[in-house]
Order: sequence, then C-alpha cells, then structure tokens
Amino acid sequence: MSDQGSRHLRFGTRTIHAGVKPEPVTGAIMTPIFQTSTYVQPAVGEPLGGSYDYGRTANPTREALEANVASLESGTHAVAFASGLAAIEAIVKRLSAGDHVVSEENTYGGTTRMFNKVLSRLGIEFTYVDSREPGAVEAAMRPNTRLVHLETPTNPMMRVADIAAIAEIAHAGGALLSVDNTFASPYNQRPLEMGADFTVHSSTKYINGHSDVIGGVLAVKDPELAEEIYFLRKSTGAVPGPMDCFLTLRGIKTLHVRMRQHNENGLAVARYLEAHPAVDRVFYPGLESHPQHELASRQMTGYTGMVSVDVGSLARAKAFTEHTRIFKLAESLGGVESLISVPALMTHGSVPADRRAAMGITDGLVRLSVGIEDEADLLEDLERVLSGG
Ligand SMILES: *Cc1c(COP(=O)(O)O)cnc(C)c1O
Repeated sequence: MSDQGSRHLRFGTRTIHAGVKPEPVTGAIMTPIFQTSTYVQPAVGEPLGGSYDYGRTANPTREALEANVASLESGTHAVAFASGLAAIEAIVKRLSAGDHVVSEENTYGGTTRMFNKVLSRLGIEFTYVDSREPGAVEAAMRPNTRLVHLETPTNPMMRVADIAAIAEIAHAGGALLSVDNTFASPYNQRPLEMGADFTVHSSTKYINGHSDVIGGVLAVKDPELAEEIYFLRKSTGAVPGPMDCFLTLRGIKTLHVRMRQHNENGLAVARYLEAHPAVDRVFYPGLESHPQHELASRQMTGYTGMVSVDVGSLARAKAFTEHTRIFKLAESLGGVESLISVPALMTHGSVPADRRAAMGITDGLVRLSVGIEDEADLLEDLERVLSGG
C-alpha cells in the first residue's frame, strides 16, 4: 500500500498520521482491527474496493500499517509479513535456481541459517563477504548475481556498510540491493534514499518496539517491484494477522520519541562501558573509537540502543548477563525494556563456530539492547555487576 498524501510532513508527524484515516462509518480515530477472513461481495467478481475478496490478499488494518512504513522509509510501497525472516525470504524468492546472491557475512543468525539450510537447497547460491569493504562486494559479483543483501549496522558486531557505494556496485552488476534496516530503524537511517531497492525490517524490534509482536515489513520505491512482492506474498502466504498489524501500527506512533531515547541511552551506556576496566572492547558506531564512526555519521542520524562489548571470556560474559536486574537476559532487541544476551550461545548459536570466530563473535561477547528506562538506573545496574558493587 502506498501513501502519497503525507509526503510533505516531517518524520515524527508521519509516524502518527501516515496511512491512517478516520474509519468512514463512525470516524474512529484508531484504525480498526479488521479481524475477518473474507468479505461479502455485492456482485460476482466485484469485491468492494476492487480488492477485498479474501484476507490473505487484502486487509485494511494491514494496508494502513504498510502505507505508514512506506512513508517512513521514503518508499512508494511497503509489504508486511508474518515475521522479519518471511520478509527477507520474499526478497530472495524473486530469484530462481541458478541465481546468485552476495550477502554480508555478519547478518542476523536466522538469516544466514535460512540462506544456507533452506534457500541454497533450491539452487540459489550465496557468497558471504565482509561488506565494510565495498571492494569485497565488487569482487564477489558474478554474471548471475541478482541480489546484494546487506545488514547495517550488523548484528551483533555493529559493522557498518556504505549503502550508497554498494548500491552503485550492485546496480552496475545488474543486481538489486536489499538492506536489513532492523538495527537502525527508519528514524536513524533510510536506505532507499541512498540507492537501495529494498529496505527490510524485523518489525518485531524497533518498529513495533514493545516486545509483543513477531512481524516483518519491507519497503520499495518502485511500484513494479511492489507488485512482484505482493504477488509472492499472496502466492506463498506469510501474511501477518490483523491484530499484530494493529499493535505494530500503534507501536510506530511513538517510533520517533522512542528512538531519540534509545539513541541517548545507547550512547550513554556505550561511553560508560568504554571507560570501564572490566570491558575489553565496545562496539558502537556512535563512539569516536568505532573504526567506521565517520561513515556511520554520514549515513545515520543516530546510533540506536544496540551496544556490544567483549568482556574476555564466557565465564565473565555469563557472570555479567546473569546478574543484571534491569537488563533482562533474553534474545531479541529494540523494545522499550533493556535486554542483555550472549550471542555465541543465544542468537548466533546456529552459526558454525568457525564462521562465528571469523566474524569476531567471541564467547566473551555480550550484546545489550538498551531500552528507554532512566539512564541513571541503567548505568547503576551495570556498575553494580561490573564493579561487584
Ligand atoms: C530479529 C531479526 C531478524 C528476524 O526477524 P524475525 O521477526 O524474528 O523473523 C532479521 N534481521 C535482524 C537484523 C533481526 O534482528
């Protein structure tokens, strides 16, 4: 679904209003949850609105969410899915056996698992590169490369890829570029503005932001590409339910306010940890010490609440993550509450050990999803555990 009407409004206003119209019967300001599987048609083959024939094909709650995300990502259309992985899968399912994909190597663990264990069995080939170096992407391109897939910043190493430079490389080689924008959120980074063809989210994370929905959404700026993705979703079926679309749309209304606080708290936690003697290294693109800070500040306007640190060993990582009180030990990220995890044993447990090591995911790596609680409470929680206070 697209929403051209609110194009002139600023980001924070669009989070609340883009794609959302008062319900026509009562004027209800909140988009209703159209919890229906089918629609009554006034005449054979003439569904209302031209499209309301079946819930997998069309749903007004879902369409409002999609129009909103399309606007926030500076796209023309967005398509919502049952999960982030279903959205990424749809992008790859445009391809056919014999086609080739170049992917950043340090993506979300589940993305790598899907590429390696499911989609590669269908005859699609994947090459993994360190996309911090655009030349590595260029070198991996083949005549049959049809997609370059980035994630920036990456999970959990916070590597940053130059979206504009890699868009040029992908297009010169006849491929499209997709960017997993989950970690940044459209508040901080809008890949379509930098030349990407797809921007894709696990809306489970910052977009919904309240840790109560699994969802995915992608946005494009080409109506023909949108048609292809609608067709794929309709034909394969990974649609989100109306209730989840409603909750996600409600969560989005505070995206700009939440992200400002995530950015502020994330930076404060990163600075605190960088100065702490119990921490060997901090990975956060907002720190001047991050090797790609300059690139990050060129293509992002904030650095989110995702911070990774190396505390030296698995024993120390466990001692750290099992004793914080406000930071809860859990997978996932991007919600209002702070979470802490050990990627090697949790989110990236399915990535082979040698690949983990190559990416720098040591056993002592700890990932923090800094929430929007009061900064002083978060710092005190970390101080108590790290300094044994
Ligand atoms: C969580 C996540 C995914 C997968 O999304 P689901 O909603 O869990 O399917 C993909 N990419 C990134 C960066 C993620 O953090």
